[in-house]
Amino acid sequence: MKHFPIFLAVEGRRIVVSGGGEAAVAKLRLLLKTEARLTVIAAEIAPEITAWAAAGQLRIIERAQEPGDAICAALFYAANDNAAEDARVTRLAQADGALTNWVDNLEASQFITPAIVDRDPVTIAIGTEGAAPVLARRIKAELEERLSPLLGTLARVGKAFRARAEALPFGRPRRAFWADYYDRAGPAAFKGGGAGALPEALDALLEAHIAAETAPGKVDFVGAGPGDPELLTLKARKALDAADVVIHDRLVTPEILELARREALIIDAGKEGFGPSMPQAEINGLIVAHGLAGAHVVRLKSGDATVFGRLDEEIDAATEAGLDYAIIPGITAASAAVATIGQSLTKRQRNGAVRFLTGHDMKGFAEHDWAAIARPGEVAAIYMGKRTARFIQGRLLMHGADPATPVTIIENASRPDQRIVETSLAQLEPDLSQAGLTGPALTLYGLAPRAALAAANHLPLKEIAQ
Ligand code: SAH
Repeated sequence: MKHFPIFLAVEGRRIVVSGGGEAAVAKLRLLLKTEARLTVIAAEIAPEITAWAAAGQLRIIERAQEPGDAICAALFYAANDNAAEDARVTRLAQADGALTNWVDNLEASQFITPAIVDRDPVTIAIGTEGAAPVLARRIKAELEERLSPLLGTLARVGKAFRARAEALPFGRPRRAFWADYYDRAGPAAFKGGGAGALPEALDALLEAHIAAETAPGKVDFVGAGPGDPELLTLKARKALDAADVVIHDRLVTPEILELARREALIIDAGKEGFGPSMPQAEINGLIVAHGLAGAHVVRLKSGDATVFGRLDEEIDAATEAGLDYAIIPGITAASAAVATIGQSLTKRQRNGAVRFLTGHDMKGFAEHDWAAIARPGEVAAIYMGKRTARFIQGRLLMHGADPATPVTIIENASRPDQRIVETSLAQLEPDLSQAGLTGPALTLYGLAPRAALAAANHLPLKEIAQ
C-alpha cells in the first residue's frame, strides 16, 4: 500500500487551490462539500468560481501565486492545467508547509483524492493508486446504485439516537435494532413523512425491540416444502427472515437455508433414515433451550411439518417449557411428486380417498391395512418407502392387489436433479433397486405419469409391466 487512506478533519481549516480553469472547477465541486475554508489563487478565474465567491463559499486571490500564499493550508491543489506553473506552485506550497496534490500527476503528489461515494456522514473512498481509474469508476458506480440515497439522512438522524439505543443490550440485540432501522423502519418512515418522521420512527422501533427482547422466545414449526425455494410459502419466508435460530432437517436444501436471516444461528439436526441421527430428545432440548433464551426459533422441516415429522413430540416439548408455538404449513412431498407426473391424488370415480403411508416406523417395517389398499383404484403416497419396497410389494400382492397396478417413484421431487421411475407393483422390485436412487424418493402407488410426461421424463426402464 503506497497510499494510506485516512479521513482528514478539515472543518474550519484552509484548503488552497491554485488555478482558475476547468481542473480547478472540478476539484472545487468536490471541496465545496467539505466544511473547510477554501481559497482560490489564479490570474484568470472562471465564472463558476466567481459565482461561488459571490455566494460566500470561497475566497479568491486574483493573481499568480506568491510565496506565503499557502501558509497554514492543510491541503493544497495545483490545478492550473499547465505543467510548468503547477511545478512552480507546488514548490511554493511545499515551502509554506502544505500537503500538496498536483492534479492528474500521481508521481508529483504528496496525497491523492480518491473516488468518493457521498452519503454524508457515510463516505466511501475508493483508490487504486492510479493503477486502474476505470475500475475505481466502476466500483463507484456500483456502490452508487447499491446504496440508497437516503442512507446519509438515515445515518445523520441515527447518529443522534445512538445513546438512546444503548437501552438495548450490546451485541446482537443492538445490531438487530440498527439493521431494522436502516433496512426497513427508516426507509418506510421517510417515505411516509420525510426526514422529520425519522425520530418518531426510531422511538417506536426502540420500544418494539425492547419489548421483543424481554418477551419469551417462541417456536415456529415451518414446512420448508420439497426443496425448490419457490415452493416455500410467504409465511415460511417471513419466519426465516425473522428467525434468531433455525434448526433444520437433513432434507432441507441449502438454497432454502440461504433465505434465513444473515444473523441467524443455523443448526443441522439432520436425520438419516435408519442411519445415525441427532436423537429426538436432543432436538427437543435445542428447541426448548433456544426458546427459553428468548430466541425466535424456526424449526424447519422438509415438506409439511405435520407429515411424518415427529412434530407432536416437539410441540409437547415446547409447550411443557411454556413456549408459544405456531405451525406454518408447507407443501408435502406427495403434492410435489404428484404434480411432477401431471396427475391428481384423488379423482372422481377412481379414488375418493388417498393415504399417506410411511414405509417404516420406529419398530421397522410399518404395517398398514393392506387389504384395503390392495383394492382396485386405491392411491397411496408412500414416504420413506425405498428400503421397504420389497416388503410393501409382498404385502400388497399377498392381499390380492393387481400386479399390474401402476407405481411411480419420484426422487428429489421439485429439485433440479428430480428423477421419475415408472413401474408396476409386480416390477417395483427389482426396478427400484436397479434405478439406484440416492435422494429422497416418494412412491406413488396406483398412479402412472400422464402419458405425454411418461415419454419425456422417465428413466429408460421397463414398460409398465403386464
Ligand atoms: N415432512 C415431509 C416428509 C418427511 S419424511 C413432507 O411432508 O414431505 C421424509 C420422506 O419424505 C423421504 O423419505 C421421502 O419419502 C419424502 N420426501 C421428502 N422430500 C422429498 C422430495 N423432494 N422428493 C421426494 N420425496 C421426498
